[in-house]
Amino acid sequence: MSLGTDVETAIRSLPRDSMVFLDYDGTLVELSPDPETTYPDSELVSLLDAVSARYETYIATGRSLLEITEFLGNRYNIIALHGAVLMKRGQEPRYLVDATKYIEYCNSAFSRRNDFISRYPGLKITNKQGGIVFILWRLSPRDSGSLVSELRNMAAESGMDLYLGKRIAELRIPGINKGTAIRMLRESRPALIAGDDITDEDSFILNQDALTIKVGDGPTAARYRVGDVKEFRGILRMLSVP
Ligand SMILES: [Mg+2]
Repeated sequence: MSLGTDVETAIRSLPRDSMVFLDYDGTLVELSPDPETTYPDSELVSLLDAVSARYETYIATGRSLLEITEFLGNRYNIIALHGAVLMKRGQEPRYLVDATKYIEYCNSAFSRRNDFISRYPGLKITNKQGGIVFILWRLSPRDSGSLVSELRNMAAESGMDLYLGKRIAELRIPGINKGTAIRMLRESRPALIAGDDITDEDSFILNQDALTIKVGDGPTAARYRVGDVKEFRGILRMLSVP
C-alpha cells in the first residue's frame, strides 16, 4: 500500500495539540447491509487506543450513542447522531440541541415499523432516539422510490431533515450536523477530520483550515483522499506512532 506523499507529509507535520475526528462506518470499518454487525476488529481498537493517547480524538458518527458504544464501549470521546449528541470519555452524554419533540416523533414512527416492513419487504428500521434510519439495501428500486416519497411527507410533517445516503434514508434532527459540532468543539484548534459519506462533507466544508481526508470515491471538499477503509488504516498507523 502506498499513500500519497502529500497526505503523509501533512500528517507528519500535524501539530501535537491537534484534535482528531473520525467517522466510523465506511471510514474505520467497511459498510455493511447489516450495520448492527460491524464491530471493530482488534487491530482497529489498538490503533484507536494509540491515536487517542496521542491526540484528543473523537469518533464522529451518525449512529446513535447506544449503537456506537455497543461497538466501542466508553473508552473514546463520541459525537453521535450527526452532531446532536456529545459524550466525552468518562462524562455524561448531552444533546447539543433540544431534541425532545424529535425523539417523540421517532418513537411514534418506530411503533409503526411492522406496517412499514409489511409494505416494503426487506426493509430494516432503526430508532436512534432523535433520528430514525430506513435501511434500503434489500429493497427493489421501485419500493425504495415509494418509501422515499413517504419519508418526504414525514419530514414535512415533523420538521425533521430527510437525508438520503448510501442505501439508507434517515430522518434527522434539523439545525445540527457533524461539521457544526466539530467546529464548535475545536474552538479553532488544529484538527484532522476523516470521513467517507456526504454527511462528512459538512465537516470538511465548515472546517477548511483542518487536515481533511475523504475515504473512497465521489466528489469532496476534503483536501486529501484515500481509496478505502484499508488504506485509511495506513493513516491511523501513521497517527499512532510518535
Ligand atoms: Mg461513514
